[in-house]
Amino acid sequence: MDLKGKTALVTGGARGIGKAIVLELAKLGANVATCYARSAEAAEAVIEEAKGFGVNGIAVKADVSVAEDVTNMIDVVSKELGGIDILVNNAGITKDNIIVGLTEADFDMVVDTNLKGAFLACKAVARPMIKKKGGRIINISSIVGVNGNAGQSNYAASKAGLIGLTKSLAKELGKKGITVNAVAPGFISTDMTAAMTEEATAKMNAMIPAGRPGQPEEVAKLVAFLASDDAAYITGQVIGIDGGM
Ligand code: NAP
Repeated sequence: MDLKGKTALVTGGARGIGKAIVLELAKLGANVATCYARSAEAAEAVIEEAKGFGVNGIAVKADVSVAEDVTNMIDVVSKELGGIDILVNNAGITKDNIIVGLTEADFDMVVDTNLKGAFLACKAVARPMIKKKGGRIINISSIVGVNGNAGQSNYAASKAGLIGLTKSLAKELGKKGITVNAVAPGFISTDMTAAMTEEATAKMNAMIPAGRPGQPEEVAKLVAFLASDDAAYITGQVIGIDGGM
């Protein structure tokens, strides 16, 4: 696979799955951009590491749940790197609670970040991609968006919403040479899952036929394939990467 001459924007690339995606795409020759809400230093460090593969890169401060931030991010990245060929909506958060304890603020924050953020970024890249008659959009959903999970109704709703967004945009944009797919990871070792208790982690591991958590780099390789020319006939799909969960 070769992504030379392409430009990719990966939201939330400072750490975890986003960081692995930025580095994998850069390794394959794509210029890379990412955004951060809080982790400025980490995001800059990832871009510096990516540049080690001989590509251009930029990190932009943008809270994906804020429309003006997203518009500004797309403008800056397009100007600095000459357009966006690949958009990976990866930025995401959890604010877990069972329904009786779940606050409206925590529901809104999770949906605004995980779902509205992706909508805003898709909307901003759609017109230029249509003009170019090509593009790749990859939304990082979750197994929780497919199956649901007790204590994560806000997160599950946001990730299921991403699947609906993906399938609809695939139908809208297919004729324009733009593919839109979702990736649904299972249990991947990152800061997000490190926050779980030892007991919850052990329970989760017991549910994985592969017998281990996934690694961010494994998700990144799937995303890189979907971003490549080889994946031109795959669109509107939700691809699980979960060790058989
Ligand atoms: P993580 O280590 O917690 O990293 C989350 C990233 O999202 C950070 O770079 C963070 O940057 C960024 N982010 C959060 N809120 C943001 C906002 N409002 N605006 C811009 N950036 C924001 O999480 P991860 O495990 O790598 O997860 C990455 C994605 O995969 C998420 O969408 C998550 O839901 C999904 N996923 C993860 C797993 C898993 O097991 N880890 C499983 C299924 C799906 P800042 O620090 O700058 O805020």
